[in-house]
Amino acid sequence: SKRIFRTMSAKARDVDAKECDGTGEQIRNHHKQAFEYISLALRIDEDDKEDKEQAVQWYHKGIAELEKGIAVKVTGTGEKPERARRLQAKMTTNLLMARDRLQLLAKLNSGSPPTVYTEGPDQPLSNGSLRPGFAVSGAVPKKKDSHTHTARSVPKANPPPKLPSGAPPRPASGPRGGRVNPKIKNECWKHNLVKFVCARACMCACALEAAAGRAVSRGNGKAAPPLSTPQRKRDMKNFKNVDSKLANLILNEIVDSGPAVLFRDIAGQELAKQALQEIVILPAVRPELFTGLRAPARGLLLFGPPGNGKTMLAKAVAMESNATFFSISAASLTSKYVGEGEKLVRALFAVARELQPSVIFIDEIDSLLCERREGEHDASRRLKTEFLIEFDGVQSGGDERVLVMGATNRPQELDEAVLRRFPKRIYVSLPTEETRLKLLKNLLGKHGSPLTAKELSQLARQVLWNTHEHTSKHIDHFHCCMTDGYSGSDLTSLAKDAALGPIRELRPDQVRNMAANEMRNINFSDFVESLKKVKKSVSSQTIEQYVHWNQEYGDTTA
Ligand code: ATP
Ligand code: MG
Repeated sequence: SKRIFRTMSAKARDVDAKECDGTGEQIRNHHKQAFEYISLALRIDEDDKEDKEQAVQWYHKGIAELEKGIAVKVTGTGEKPERARRLQAKMTTNLLMARDRLQLLAKLNSGSPPTVYTEGPDQPLSNGSLRPGFAVSGAVPKKKDSHTHTARSVPKANPPPKLPSGAPPRPASGPRGGRVNPKIKNECWKHNLVKFVCARACMCACALEAAAGRAVSRGNGKAAPPLSTPQRKRDMKNFKNVDSKLANLILNEIVDSGPAVLFRDIAGQELAKQALQEIVILPAVRPELFTGLRAPARGLLLFGPPGNGKTMLAKAVAMESNATFFSISAASLTSKYVGEGEKLVRALFAVARELQPSVIFIDEIDSLLCERREGEHDASRRLKTEFLIEFDGVQSGGDERVLVMGATNRPQELDEAVLRRFPKRIYVSLPTEETRLKLLKNLLGKHGSPLTAKELSQLARQVLWNTHEHTSKHIDHFHCCMTDGYSGSDLTSLAKDAALGPIRELRPDQVRNMAANEMRNINFSDFVESLKKVKKSVSSQTIEQYVHWNQEYGDTTA
């Protein structure tokens, strides 16, 4: 946050240098000062351990500065006075939010009716105390409370601040009048204040609604939690040029959900993880470092044999990056939304632009963007074309931060026009011996790691066992059943099957009546048995094709 504060202040200074008219400068100084105070207040307010009384004091100071800035009279027409008025209008919104927050803090902490204060930093409050000493005691408001829509919950507040001439008129009815101020309706205190002080998005329930019609600013360096279902379920309106029904559909069905996956859950695939860090995660965290030639690629393709973590990697990106994540399978675009596909693609990109930084993940992208064929259905051709047009828009879109990420196990089916749009192509290969070992270890970790290190490495090993240790019968058997060539999902299936070994030894009535701790744990021979049943699912010829394709088109830095 500090870094962002500094960047913001630097930006503010640049703007100041250009405009040196007295009035404008006066307003900006008040704004800057208010910014400093309210950032302090917010920092304390957000921290449950901090003394809220201090936050209250800083809010008061910030409010006083905002009031002073708003009270400056701006005259004349032209660009500079207009700019000053716009700033005053912004300050008015900030003022309302800060006041509402203050009132709620008082209400939450005193448990009594909200204290009403009057204007001017040193004027007595209705409870008799001076504003800087505003008494706050008792329990600190919990995060949950702080996300309440205070505009609705504050029944009574200040008289309106004097607005400068020419500033947008104050809404006729607002929280002060007991009704909701339409301007700040649906936005919580934190959302606006956080935006005010450090240009980062508050991922509160109102964030999506507030994003309608304007982009949400982000970049706090922390991973924002993915949007939860209730957040997504909220009605979305007013996305520019987007049909509201489609926007709803996108936010309800396409913004990613499902079980969370973290990078550390994915065994191996280091190259893919590194590329994703470079292209998605770090640029979202440090956008200022990734500009010009360092601007991150807008298209990334994960390809490789089935069941090795392509979808998992995409889910981990959703979890660990600060971006809004839209996930859609090409199959659902072509089948589920028949006839709506084109419109949906347009809307998808529009919403992604609004909520940037965003990642649009298209799983099984080959079925959407496969080579154009003779006799291809018109609708699918149009859909493909629309997708490529939108994709181009994103690629030439200057500062826009929308990444299209595709996954496919049939990269050969993508035509060259499509490949050009995915400058980064990462091979998500079969697990290596080391990765197999890690994966098996992780899987068995849930059962108290019953296999010895030696047994595990034997299972994962690429070469044949030591002939002295085993009979020739064993060697033959393991020769064809080693886990070499097993995909991540094959290994998962193998471990699942082996885990059933102890159960298979028992009769059904024994299983029914047995205490859980009486059952023996999984052992090596369970795996030996399962190796006969669960075989690899990708042939070595197919792997050769992937290797070949990777050499020709992929990123071969590994
Ligand atoms: P497809 O090309 O068929 O879509 P995919 O590459 O997208 O396959 P995933 O869906 O990501 O494969 O993985 C399938 C399952 O295999 C996962 O749910 C997980 O259980 C397991 N798996 C695969 N690779 C890994 C890995 N590297 N680490 C942990 N689990 C893995
Ligand atoms: Mg997949």
